[in-house]
Amino acid sequence: MLIDLTENPDCTECGLCREACPVFQIQRQEEYSPRGRVMLDCAGLQTLVFYQCTLCRTCRIVCPIGHDPNGETLRSELINAGIETSANQTMIINIRLYGNPFGPLADGELPKVLTCC
Ligand code: SF4
Ligand code: SF4
Repeated sequence: MLIDLTENPDCTECGLCREACPVFQIQRQEEYSPRGRVMLDCAGLQTLVFYQCTLCRTCRIVCPIGHDPNGETLRSELINAGIETSANQTMIINIRLYGNPFGPLADGELPKVLTCC
């Protein structure tokens, strides 16, 4: 499906953020790159793909014009719209109940899985 994307007016489309992004290095699809996600956002699309960001901020560091295409703003927009993964909801409940995203842990116990969403 082709989408008529609105360009991000601040972006020169140099692609440096895309090549530096660890998520794009794995997925190799534009929608998973910082540049691609901002283009989706500019087109008014809200998608769970926005959660596919480690928040490492590497894209912010390498951008030659100081643009900030990392995922924090996109994620907060999703949360404000009530768009969350079930894993994310579980993580938030765990933080509220147990003070950590992994749920109840005995003293010294390590979580079996180190990802949370
Ligand atoms: S902050 Fe997110 S979008 Fe930016 S480089 Fe890191 S993983 Fe990629
Ligand atoms: S590094 Fe900056 S200017 Fe280059 S594509 Fe990414 S957001 Fe656009």
